[in-house]
Amino acid sequence: RLKALKMQKHQEVIKMIDRDCIFCKIVKKELPSTLVFENERIMVFKDIHPAAPVHLLIIPKKHIPTLSHCSEDDAALLGEMMALIPKLAREEGIAVSGTETGTPQGGFRVVVNTGPDGKQDVYHMHIHLMGGPRPWKTPN
Ligand code: AMP
Ligand code: ZN
Repeated sequence: RLKALKMQKHQEVIKMIDRDCIFCKIVKKELPSTLVFENERIMVFKDIHPAAPVHLLIIPKKHIPTLSHCSEDDAALLGEMMALIPKLAREEGIAVSGTETGTPQGGFRVVVNTGPDGKQDVYHMHIHLMGGPRPWKTPN
């Protein structure tokens, strides 16, 4: 009875981490990354192949394969990830300014590639934060 419970707990824990997932390895610090932010739930690091002058990846520490696998249960986590963006943008010097004067400057794109048709390559859900002066590399 106790063993069954322990097994169930173990299954729950291993479900959180995917052994073959490169982003899970980054979470466990088995793979290096250029870390920008970390808390108990979220990690932010630099994309190794930047498509823009600033290119960060915002990931949940728990393994969620795609945005398509998310539900209302993930609203707080997804909200926390999105709400980090303005602070990250200020720190990276890509925040929008000048909207009051009618000449906005700076800015960024927020992208979540999802599944094969969404051209997702790494199946651990992530938000791309890309910004900085144009031109950027041509997107796919
Ligand atoms: P996606 O096509 O949306 O799945 O994006 C995956 C992103 O992860 C790409 O922009 C890659 O350049 C990036 N990437 C892959 N491996 C690593 C890594 N080890 N460290 C940082 N970024 C990575
Ligand atoms: Zn993962």
